This record gives sequence, structure tokens and C-alpha cells, in this order.
Amino acid sequence: MKRCLLVHYGEIGLKLGNKDYFVSRLMRNIKTKFKESFERNFFIEHTLDRFLIPLEDDFDEDKYISVLNKIFGIKNFSFVFVGSTDIEKLVEEIWTNLPEEICEEKTKTFRVKVKRSMKMPLNSMEMERKIGALLLERGLDMKVKLKNPDFVVTVEFFNEHGYFAFKKHGGAGGLSSGTQGKLVATISAGIDSPVAAYRMMRRGARIIFVHFHGYPYTDKDEMEQVKELVQILSKYQEGTKLYLVPFGFIQKSISTNLEVPARMRTLLYRRMMLRIAEKICFKERAKGIVTGDNFGQVASQTPENIFAIHDVTTIPLFQPLIGDDKEEIIEIAKKIGTFEISKLPCKESCTMFMPRSPELRANARDLLKYEESLPIDEWMQKALKESELELS
Ligand code: ATP
Ligand code: MG
Repeated sequence: MKRCLLVHYGEIGLKLGNKDYFVSRLMRNIKTKFKESFERNFFIEHTLDRFLIPLEDDFDEDKYISVLNKIFGIKNFSFVFVGSTDIEKLVEEIWTNLPEEICEEKTKTFRVKVKRSMKMPLNSMEMERKIGALLLERGLDMKVKLKNPDFVVTVEFFNEHGYFAFKKHGGAGGLSSGTQGKLVATISAGIDSPVAAYRMMRRGARIIFVHFHGYPYTDKDEMEQVKELVQILSKYQEGTKLYLVPFGFIQKSISTNLEVPARMRTLLYRRMMLRIAEKICFKERAKGIVTGDNFGQVASQTPENIFAIHDVTTIPLFQPLIGDDKEEIIEIAKKIGTFEISKLPCKESCTMFMPRSPELRANARDLLKYEESLPIDEWMQKALKESELELS
């Protein structure tokens, strides 16, 4: 039987006024990702708030799932059979295509779910009942259960067809990639910042990555880990850039400066990072900076310290993980595949020059005072000039 991919988009369908923009962007993103992954052009029909994409006879379902899971803006999708609108015929088609899994013993209950976007002699509920009854008549050895059944047959009537499927896959959610402009995300090899970048990508931002590394004061492990993380995240968008900014010389200068109390170091590093990230933001015409900050998690994330750090810039700062629990963050990291890399031990540039008992309640005025003796502008220029850009 002819098969199609049926894609429903979520939130973007609710966008009043500029829905067309979100939809056409999503359609373009699917076309681009599919072409890249399957090396052919795809025809996508947009009809009644759905995309319908014809599939090849021997299509690789798992491969499609893995590609679709990285396209934001999709609410759910299914690999439908293009069936008839004649109920008797349709039931015959459903019956002959029932998947093997449902013969397993644990599948004891089922239901039929019908959506109808064309004229039909019966309404949706009546059709659900009728199709269910006909399946039972044919010998389907299951009980009907409307809430949480083991098995659902979905049927959507539109375009003069009854498209049916036995499984609906949840999509990646969010907004179509690239619809919210660019943001710069500061990324370390830790668990949080890759998840933070992912969360903002999911909301439609195109992310430019910036990593501050300690090389040659540290080995290259941390940088390599960050590159791997960015490689994973780059699958969710088009045209990824990673700035690798030398930062060890700044940390070394601050940590050996006798005027600067050890407990203030981390805050001064963070302020320097933000200043440099801001410059990259301007250069890239990005609209804000994303960090993986999480309220109260480490010393630099007390409310006072967050305030004292953010004081160096007026650009919007996005901290999508600010109110999450660590377990929630880890769960996402595992789902997107960054956790296994982030949890590897590596000598972080920050930990190397880290004070033993950091300040918990700093204020910007004090930090500014220490910075007076530091060649801030010179450092920024050097760091930017010597930074490397990687594209993927
Ligand atoms: P992460 O797990 O993302 O490293 P964290 O919980 O360890 O975060 P911090 O080390 O205080 O917290 O870092 C806070 C945020 O500052 C990070 O989420 C990241 O956005 C940014 N950051 C920290 N170190 C670096 C770095 N070397 N390069 C780029 N950004 C960094
Ligand atoms: Mg960290």
C-alpha cells in the first residue's frame, strides 16, 4: 500500500498573523534536513494544518524518526497508509496491515481514533465505533478501552482518503528553527550549558556557540569535548559556528594579581567572559546571550553574584535552566545525547584557577574597583583576535 509521512505541527499553528512564516520555515527545514539525510528531493503537501510527504516503498522508519526528532516545530508524526474513505474497504486495509506486535499477549485493549476534515456520512465518534466493531467482527482479539488503551488505530479523513496508522510519534516540539533570530550561547564542557543552548534552539533561536578555553594552560581535552557537544547540537540547526576563545591568559593574570582577592576571581572571570561574548554578539548581530546558569547551584549563581556578573552588559541574557532541578537538566542531557560527553572528567579552564572559598555575595561596585587595575580592553582585543572559528 502507498505510504506517507503525516506531520502535525504544534504551537506554530496557533500563531496569528505570522503563522504562514512559521509554517513555511518548518516546511523548508524539513526539506533541507531530509535532502541532507536521504539524498533526494522531497515533495511536501501542506493541507489543513498538516504536512503530507510521500514515502518510498522500502523506507527506513528508524532513520526518518531520528531525523524528525531533530526538527523543531513538529508536534507529532506518523507513517500512515493511504487508505480508502469507504469504511468497509478501509477496515479490510487496516486488517491486512495490522502490525505483528499487537498479537503479543500484553496488548489486550485498543481503540480507534478518527479525525475528519472532509464530508463523511458519519461523524467522528460514530466512525470510531463502526471501525472498532468491524475489526472485532473480523476477529481482533482485544477489548475496547477508550482511556489509555494498549493500542490505538488512528484514522484521518481528508483529501478524499482515509489515512491510517498504528502509532503516533511525539515530535521535538518548540518553534521552527531560525524563526527567532540569532543568539550567542556560552558553552562549557559541563552538563548545563549544552542543555541551555538546546532549550533556546528549541524555541526557534539560531545558536552561535562561544567557548572560553584554558589552552595552553590546560590540555586540549576540554576543547575537544566542547567540539563534540557542539557537533551533537549542530544537528538541530543549519550552519553552526563555534568560537574558541583563549581565556587561560586572562585567568592566569587575574589569579596571580596580588591586588585581587582570591575569593573574587571566579566573578571576574565570568564578567570577562560576558564582555567578550557581548562583543561576539554585536559582530554576529545576535540578539542576546544564553548561559547554563542555574539558581543557587554553584557559588557564582547566588542572586547577588548573578546580579554582579550581569552588570557588565545591558544585552538580554537568557538562562533557560535558571529554575530547573539538576535531575531535570540531566534528563534532557541524556535525551539529546550530551550527557555522556559532559560527564567525562576534564580539566576545566575555570576549575584550574578557581579559589578555594569563593565570594557568595559580591556586588558590582567592588568588582569594578578590582578591575580598575586590570587591562580589560587589551585582554578583550587579544582574546577576540586570537579566537578561532569552527564551522559545521
Ligand atoms: P555548566 O555545566 O554549563 O558548565 P555550571 O553549572 O558548571 O555550568 P558555571 O561553571 O558557573 O556553572 O558556569 C555558568 C555558565 O557560564 C555556564 O553554563 C556557561 O554558560 C558559562 N561558562 C562557564 N564556563 C565557560 C567556558 N569555559 N566557556 C564558555 N562558557 C562558560
Ligand atoms: Mg561548568
